Amino acid sequence: MSFSVDIVGAGPAGLMAAEVLARGGAAVRVMDQMPSPARKFLMAGRGGLNLTHSEPLDRFLDRYGEARSFLEPAIRAFPPEALIAWCNGLGIETFVGSSGRVFPKAMKASPLLRAWLRRLDGLGVKLELKTDWTGDKEADAMILAMGGASWPRLGSDAGWAQMLRRRGIDVSEFIPANCGVTIDWSDFFMERFAGEPLKRIAMTSGGRAVRGEAVVTRRGLEGGVVYALGPQLRETAELTLDLRPDLTSAQLEARLTRPKGKASLSNFLRKTAGLSPVAIALLREAGAPMTAAGIKSLNLTVTGTDSLARAISSAGGVALGEVDRNFELTAWPDVYVVGEMLDWEAPTGGYLLQACFSTAVAAAKACLAGFQAAPGRPQSVPR
Ligand SMILES: Cc1cc2nc3c(=O)[nH]c(=O)nc-3n(C[C@H](O)[C@H](O)[C@H](O)COP(=O)(O)OP(=O)(O)OC[C@H]3O[C@@H](n4cnc5c(N)ncnc54)[C@H](O)[C@@H]3O)c2cc1C
Repeated sequence: MSFSVDIVGAGPAGLMAAEVLARGGAAVRVMDQMPSPARKFLMAGRGGLNLTHSEPLDRFLDRYGEARSFLEPAIRAFPPEALIAWCNGLGIETFVGSSGRVFPKAMKASPLLRAWLRRLDGLGVKLELKTDWTGDKEADAMILAMGGASWPRLGSDAGWAQMLRRRGIDVSEFIPANCGVTIDWSDFFMERFAGEPLKRIAMTSGGRAVRGEAVVTRRGLEGGVVYALGPQLRETAELTLDLRPDLTSAQLEARLTRPKGKASLSNFLRKTAGLSPVAIALLREAGAPMTAAGIKSLNLTVTGTDSLARAISSAGGVALGEVDRNFELTAWPDVYVVGEMLDWEAPTGGYLLQACFSTAVAAAKACLAGFQAAPGRPQSVPR
């Protein structure tokens, strides 16, 4: 006895749901509108494929902010160690980087995806590419895993939102997340310093401070600290940088009172305060004083954020109140929503992929349990 499940979206969430369901005995078909599967996953591989993070689970869960309680049961049931073990089971070795982030040793997604697709094929999963979702449910159950709205050219174009809204399902507007901010640089600063990293800095916005690294771009700033402050930077234009967070103001002041001698101001700041050329240029660009106070509290005005087309992920999607704790739509029985389609957001660091995988496992298991617990339910002929 079997039952059929259609999965829409061959990204990491859809393929993970397919694996769990096929192992549980379902007849699984995965549809994707693109000519090849998991294009965004492969793109994530270009940056090394940060699969998850090794920090303690409680701190890990905090990264999901308001969505923590919604995602927590799924992530606890399929935590980072389970994801790492799953990768290893595919023959993909992983390592923990100095920041605690977890990557495949090959630092790319293609070997993992190849091994995974072979496994799915062996489990009898049917992959139908260039197949656009019609908005209907044809199988006994359906898992929607069509992703968010960033990088739409990779397939996740959120075209599905209007089909769900037509059914009365609340889909929040998509907003770019994990994206750069725009700042009106002078032509000189932009031409000379775009591409330069600002290492070991702290950034504060909306009362929240984050340490890490940013990169100057022609449009403004991007990188880990900027992404982490995404929710704050959507609310306020104010951004304060501490270019030497590891030194107190008093320590920095003591260094700056050393005799300058014949050194140029730039050389003096480089040697005594340990500032890089881009950090010194940024002080000049912002009109900040070359003092401890200027270095530790450099104010910039943000004019906006990068577009969805450039953002690593998106906030917005199917409102969390539309699904139950198994990710099943309350308004549409036997239809589950997983991955980035749901309205949660997280910073970079492996939190995005982990939540996509964990929600997929939870929904697929609940779907299996529903059919196994009620064998008398009408079931279609297996494919
Ligand atoms: C440049 C970049 C780097 C990233 N790096 C990382 C990283 O290192 N670590 C990390 O955790 N995350 C990273 N991410 C984010 C991560 O890739 C996504 O969160 C993840 O891919 C989302 O998975 P998903 O399965 O929910 O959706 P997606 O991967 O977006 O897959 C959705 C699939 O659904 C298909 N689809 C959409 N609409 C339809 C339709 N109407 N009919 C049929 N098919 C449809 C799409 O073609 C697509 O294949 C990165 C993203 C980008 C853009």
